[in-house]
Amino acid sequence: SEPACTDMNQALKKILVFASQHRGGKNIEKQLDLEENLPPVYVDPKHIQQVFLNLFLNAVQAMANGGTLTVQSRRIVTDGKDLVQVKVTDTGQGIPPNILEKIFTPFFTTKAQGTGLGLAISHRLVEQHGGHLSVVSESGKGTTFTVELPAYGSDG
Ligand code: ADP
Ligand code: MG
Repeated sequence: SEPACTDMNQALKKILVFASQHRGGKNIEKQLDLEENLPPVYVDPKHIQQVFLNLFLNAVQAMANGGTLTVQSRRIVTDGKDLVQVKVTDTGQGIPPNILEKIFTPFFTTKAQGTGLGLAISHRLVEQHGGHLSVVSESGKGTTFTVELPAYGSDG
């Protein structure tokens, strides 16, 4: 498919509904904190769906005993670049530091049925769109993945 001018808030809401239908997704509280005047991004909608579905399903799987999934969108400006920033935060088991350094490596998984491909692919897709995917996690508390993509129309 082709890149198109995309409203990230709309896309996030749709993907969240889809993720909620997956196993375990119903037992989790969802909090949406979306910035109203978010600029559009120029992305392949299929690729962006894949990225956020991976992040939401990982979050759901990290909260087998329930928890809260928070999705936040913001317009941010750093180094003169106009960016759309999306944070996906869970209150799951978190990722210990020795694991954290491996999670973007293809085929790295800690799950019995895992492929270990979700984050490797997501990382590549975000970078292909001129963006950045990063993670902060605290064992026992939870994890936040941050996606930053250039706003459409910005020359950064
Ligand atoms: P998979 O989900 O198939 O294991 P991923 O590439 O999506 O592959 O994730 C790799 C690993 O990163 C997971 O097996 C897990 O150990 C860790 N991980 C990813 N997201 C989270 C999260 N939200 N909370 C805790 N651990 C996570
Ligand atoms: Mg995964």
